[in-house]
Amino acid sequence: MADFEFDLFVIGAGSGGVRAARIAASHGARVGIAEEYRVGGTCVIRGCVPKKLLVYASRFSEEFHDAEGFGWTLPERAFDWRSLIAAKDKEISRLEAAYRATLDKFKVTIFPERATCLSENEVRLAASGRTISAKTILIATGGHPNVDRKLPGVEHVITSNEVFHLKELPRRIVIAGGGYIATEFACIFHGLGSDVTLIYRGEKILRGFDEDLRDGLVAAMQARGIRIINEHVFTNIEKTPVGLVGTITGGEKLEADQILFAIGRSPNARNLGLENLGVHLDTGGAIVVDNASQTTVPSIYAVGDVTNRVNLTPVAIREGHAFADTVFGNKPWHVDYATIPTAVFSSPEIGTVGFTEQEARAQYGAVDIYKGSFRPMKAILAGREERMLMKLVVEATSRRVLGVHVLGPDAAEIVQMAAIAVRMGATKADFDETMALHPSAAEELVTLREKWLAPGEAAA
Ligand code: FAD
Ligand code: NDP
Repeated sequence: MADFEFDLFVIGAGSGGVRAARIAASHGARVGIAEEYRVGGTCVIRGCVPKKLLVYASRFSEEFHDAEGFGWTLPERAFDWRSLIAAKDKEISRLEAAYRATLDKFKVTIFPERATCLSENEVRLAASGRTISAKTILIATGGHPNVDRKLPGVEHVITSNEVFHLKELPRRIVIAGGGYIATEFACIFHGLGSDVTLIYRGEKILRGFDEDLRDGLVAAMQARGIRIINEHVFTNIEKTPVGLVGTITGGEKLEADQILFAIGRSPNARNLGLENLGVHLDTGGAIVVDNASQTTVPSIYAVGDVTNRVNLTPVAIREGHAFADTVFGNKPWHVDYATIPTAVFSSPEIGTVGFTEQEARAQYGAVDIYKGSFRPMKAILAGREERMLMKLVVEATSRRVLGVHVLGPDAAEIVQMAAIAVRMGATKADFDETMALHPSAAEELVTLREKWLAPGEAAA
């Protein structure tokens, strides 16, 4: 190993790269890491963390509304976007410093510049022009937001990269997309007081999620006042004296102060010198790896969004950790992708783990569905009509719980815990025998007794 300057060189100090660097260093490896923007990566700097802070901010409007039902009288409310963004920026800087401190503590050398691969054991640093040798190279460069490059006027739109730095709260915003980011930001801006329109190319937003969750969330978002236009896309965007005007298929014109594109992300794998070295990329441009995160060039590994496996922070972190333990710690293990819980931080929130009803029926044939829809206790005095949904998908013969789906307050928190049971192979009887915690919303998951029958389905 002494022939190389580093045992490991990591390109990208985001969720996956930082974890891999730290763990490899803890196993005694000499580690360098290059970061072209800010240490912490997408999640910390312009993803999960600042997004969740905005979600919290956006939900105060419903809290203020609900408080009146509990006897509170509040003075007139006012919201200041600049104060929120300043507070968010301060917290993000604190977290970035904490990430740097961790790397320093583990004696990981940080290079604050862009890096590319020069050979299978050499990295080129763009700003300083240095070439660095390393026995192993880890690509952890994440992804970037897509826009429709051919759309006339596309230069006027923003993506999730810019949305965290707007100078003012848009009075009117149109959001293109129907996935995680579009849905979350539609609810964020609506909660903060903007007039929100969501435009989605398909029939119903959140493709891939359980149908009951999709239907329930769409109904709730519309009831709250978010306009959702399905089966349309932008055909043109213009900047005019009244703001941005987006024309959509069919000819309708949508006026907005901002137009946010959230139509997916692509891996940052091109222009890294990889193709010249024989590292295979798939048709979507993601780095192809085996289940040990090794690429087609043995000394080069890749983790996280750049491999487009499951693009979530905890997954990138685990992939980085498994890589470092396997290659530098003599402790080989692989990431288990089977039961990954996930949330959409919309309002109301979605939490989900395991098979959707549709997936379970396709894979297992006979499944039993248990579901309950109810007004959460807090909603009654608040005068809120919105209902919470809890759903269990159970394999009919083994009685194993294949999926848990929740729509409503604290869905993410509830499903994180339910994920333990699903991963362990808990049966419906295990859920039933678990004592309820009362009064809570989550107790519904252990008290769902009646099988839900589809229209026309006979009781057994
Ligand atoms: P990243 O965290 O993207 O890190 C890659 C790093 O590499 C970046 O810092 C980049 O600047 C750097 N880099 C790129 N190229 C180079 C180069 N050539 N040289 C040097 N540095 C380079 N996931 C969740 O689990 N929960 C959420 O709530 C959630 N919310 C999200 C909200 C938004 C708005 C977005 C955009 C994403 C969200 N995600 C969420 C997804 C999550 O952020 C990613 O899955 C995660 O950050 C991937 O980690 P990574 O290490 O692969 O890449
Ligand atoms: P998603 O993949 O979640 O959604 C992309 C959306 O854009 C889909 O509705 C898709 O439609 C639509 N779309 C794709 N291409 C086009 C196009 N050319 N024109 C119009 N619409 C298009 O991506 P996001 O950008 O929302 O988020 C990126 C990823 O980041 C997520 O997949 C997730 O992995 C991660 N993330 C996780 C979060 C969380 O854990 N809470 C929060 C935010 C992001 P269709 O369905 O028809 O394909």
